[in-house]
Amino acid sequence: MTGPRPQNWAGNIEYQAARLVRPASLDELRAVVAAGEPVRALGTGHSFNRIADTTGTLIRLDALQPAIELDESARTVTVPAGARYADIVGPLHAAGYALANLASLPHISVAGSVATGTHGSGDTLRNLAGAVVGLRMVDAAGGLVRLRRGDADFAGAVVSLGTLGIVTDLTLRIEPTFTVAQEVRVGVPLDEISSRWDEVFGAAYSVSAFTTYTDGAANVFLKRRPGGEGTGWSGGRAADTPVHPIPGVDTAACTTQLGVPGPWHERLPHFRPDLVPSAGDELQSEFFVARQAAPGALDALRGIGDQLTPVLLTCELRTIKGDQLWLSPAYGRDTVAFHFTWIRDMPAVRPVVAQVEKALIPLGARPHWGKVTNVDPAEVLSRYPRGADFAALRRRYDPESKFANAYTAALFG
Ligand SMILES: Cc1cc2nc3c(=O)[nH]c(=O)nc-3n(C[C@H](O)[C@H](O)[C@H](O)COP(=O)(O)OP(=O)(O)OC[C@H]3O[C@@H](n4cnc5c(N)ncnc54)[C@H](O)[C@@H]3O)c2cc1C
Repeated sequence: MTGPRPQNWAGNIEYQAARLVRPASLDELRAVVAAGEPVRALGTGHSFNRIADTTGTLIRLDALQPAIELDESARTVTVPAGARYADIVGPLHAAGYALANLASLPHISVAGSVATGTHGSGDTLRNLAGAVVGLRMVDAAGGLVRLRRGDADFAGAVVSLGTLGIVTDLTLRIEPTFTVAQEVRVGVPLDEISSRWDEVFGAAYSVSAFTTYTDGAANVFLKRRPGGEGTGWSGGRAADTPVHPIPGVDTAACTTQLGVPGPWHERLPHFRPDLVPSAGDELQSEFFVARQAAPGALDALRGIGDQLTPVLLTCELRTIKGDQLWLSPAYGRDTVAFHFTWIRDMPAVRPVVAQVEKALIPLGARPHWGKVTNVDPAEVLSRYPRGADFAALRRRYDPESKFANAYTAALFG
C-alpha cells in the first residue's frame, strides 16, 4: 500500500491490507472479489479490534451508493450496505417512516453494524440486525446471492462478522415515523437499579443507565414515545441541563434532551451525526449477559469498581430483546449489555478488561464482536448454541477462506 495505512476510528488499529479499493460499480466489486486474494469489507471502521482487517484487499463500499428503495406495501426499505445510518435516517423520516431503533451513534455503516450485532437499548427492541429482512452479497466466486427472512441460511447469515461475502444491500423493516422525548434522571442509586431492574428499564421505549462506579449512582437516559406505556418509574431527579454520558465532556455532540420531543433519529442515538461522538479518544469493551443475570453482574462490577476507576470513562447498561440470529450477542435470550468506554491506553486497559471478564464470564457473558476482549476465541464461540452451525455455514459459503482473516481464523479454525 502506498501512503499511510488506513486506521480504525479509534486509531488503535492500523489495517495491514496490501491495498484498499473502492469499487464504483457492482461489476467492479464482483471482479475484485473473484480475483482471488483474501478480501474483507471495511465499513466505517468503528470496531476496536482487527475484525475488519486483512492481509489482502480491503474493500470500502462508500462509492457504491444507489438510492434507498422504499417498499411501502411491504413496509421495508432497501439500503446500500456502505451507507451510514446518518445517510438513511433523514430520507426515511421525510418519507414518513422510521427504524425501530438505533445505536448510540449514527456515524456507523449499516452493513458493519449488522455484521457485528450492534445494538441500542429497549426491552422490546432487538439489535439492529433484528430489522433485517433480506440481504444481497457477492460470494467468493464473484456471484450474487440473495437471502430473505425464511430462507434456510438467513438466520445464520445476517450477523456474519463479514465472513460469508461482501454484503451489497440490506432490506430493513420499517414502521411509521414517530417522535421521542429524551429525559435524563441523575443520581439514581445503583442499589435501586439492581433491586428494581424491570421498573427502571421498562420506564421508557429505550433506557440507558451510565455509571462510573465512583459514587454508587447512575444517570438514567429515558427515551419515551409520547403516548407509550411505561412502568412509571422516575427515580433520582430530573436533569435541568443536558448531560453527556461521560462526566465532564461538553454536551454539544449530544442529541436534544430535557424532554423536548423530536424525530426518532434525532433522539434515539445519544450522539448527533455532525460532531465527534463519545469521548473520541477512547477504547471500548462490552459484555452481554442474560437479563436475569444482570443484577448479579452489576453487583460483581461494583465489587471491582476501584480497579475500573483509573481507566474508565463511563459504563453503560442497556437492554436488548432476544433473537434467533445465530451469532447475535442476544441469541436465544433477553439480554443486558454492559458497555465500557475506556481511556485510550491499551496496556493500562487490558488488565482491567481481564478483571471485568473474570467477573462476567462466569455469569455467561458474551463479548461484543467489535470491541476489546481477552477471552479466548474458542471460548467465545462456545457461548453461541449455533456457533458450530455457523462455522459449517462459513465453510460452505467460503470453502477457500477468501473472506477469512486472523480474527475469524482464531474463531472458526
Ligand atoms: C463511538 C462508538 C460508539 C459505538 N456505539 C455502539 C453502540 O451503541 N452499540 C454497539 O453495539 N456498538 C457500538 N459501537 C461499535 C460499532 O457499532 C461496531 O464496531 C460496528 O461494527 C461498527 O460498524 P462499522 O461500519 O464501523 O464496521 P467496521 O468496524 O468497519 O467493520 C465491522 C465488521 O463488519 C464487516 N463489514 C463491514 N461492511 C461489510 C459488508 N459490506 N459486507 C460484509 N461485511 C461487512 C467487516 O468486515 C467487519 O468484520 C460503537 C463504536 C464507536 C467507535
